[in-house]
Amino acid sequence: MHCHQIVEWGKPLQVRDYPNPKPEGTQVLVKVEAAGVCHSDIHIRQGYFDLGDGERSVLEERGAKLPLTLGHETVGEVAELGPNADGVSVGDKRIVFPWIGCGDCEWCNAGTEYLCNTPKFIGARVNGGYSDYVIVPHPRYLIPHDGIDTNLACTYACSGITAYSALKKIGDIGGKDTIVIIGAGGVGFNAVHIARAMYDAKIIVADIDAAKRDALRDMDGVTVIDNSEPGAVKQVLSLTNGGAKATLDFVGAPQTSKFGLDVMRKAGTHVVIGLYGKKISIALPLFPSKQMTMRGSYVGTLQEMHALMELVHAGKVPPLPVHPRPLDGAEQALQDLEAGKVVGRIVLNP
Ligand SMILES: [Zn+2]
Ligand SMILES: [Zn+2]
Repeated sequence: MHCHQIVEWGKPLQVRDYPNPKPEGTQVLVKVEAAGVCHSDIHIRQGYFDLGDGERSVLEERGAKLPLTLGHETVGEVAELGPNADGVSVGDKRIVFPWIGCGDCEWCNAGTEYLCNTPKFIGARVNGGYSDYVIVPHPRYLIPHDGIDTNLACTYACSGITAYSALKKIGDIGGKDTIVIIGAGGVGFNAVHIARAMYDAKIIVADIDAAKRDALRDMDGVTVIDNSEPGAVKQVLSLTNGGAKATLDFVGAPQTSKFGLDVMRKAGTHVVIGLYGKKISIALPLFPSKQMTMRGSYVGTLQEMHALMELVHAGKVPPLPVHPRPLDGAEQALQDLEAGKVVGRIVLNP
């Protein structure tokens, strides 16, 4: 097994070779065909999330251990089954659902495994898809993607499901409403497509990068704006006749969430999804006077993954631009993503 691992927090990935793991019990060994490179891989490699004012959420204190193979957007072919693994056959091509919990706690039993306090997330807690092989604990986490290109299919395991689950949390949205999507990176870009498949609403995309705005400019029902422009808030308020019903922050920085709250109408919902970090201060009287809701969304459930794939299989979600590269370019891919050079998703091919 040839993999690219975090060996030391905050340092470049290192190549390691190990004997192939043998699937036990209900486990399935999957031969990786494609692994998407996600912005949270940069945070995981760094070993912490920035809580602002010098405070950090340190992954090692939350159960992460090194060495760790990154890669939570994986697609591959079933290579070997454990003695109790049923429902798939050798050679089946599947997306690996990575947001897996302990399997026996209040959250896991309710189907919200991503809230589990002892998660077993593939590529974040246990070894993931920056490798030629990956172990999946049970066949139920393997999702068919017939007819959907391998390099595109992998992006639904994080970029797609994260966007879908966040968009499910914004309440009743009608044809006259506006959804503002802030940050058109890999997840936000997919969110624009998925929002159009889910809702009959107007969509405004705010991004400071001209290349990302240009990539979405000509899409039907979508208006793009530069949220670094001084008049950007006024521009959205006038385009929406007083504010958007929902704003989704796929960056998760103080400036982007402030923008989202500033362009929201009364009784609106602001959702924070991005993990850029730091702090924001909000005037508390706005919560009652605007009756506003601010909430978070993190990845999604297995059930949401199946619902998203139904939309994709129905042809309702246009493809995210993908940029395949060899697996051995994993570290460079992370650096290019960190430098903001990527429109869509880099996908590693072993
Ligand atoms: Zn991700
Ligand atoms: Zn659990």
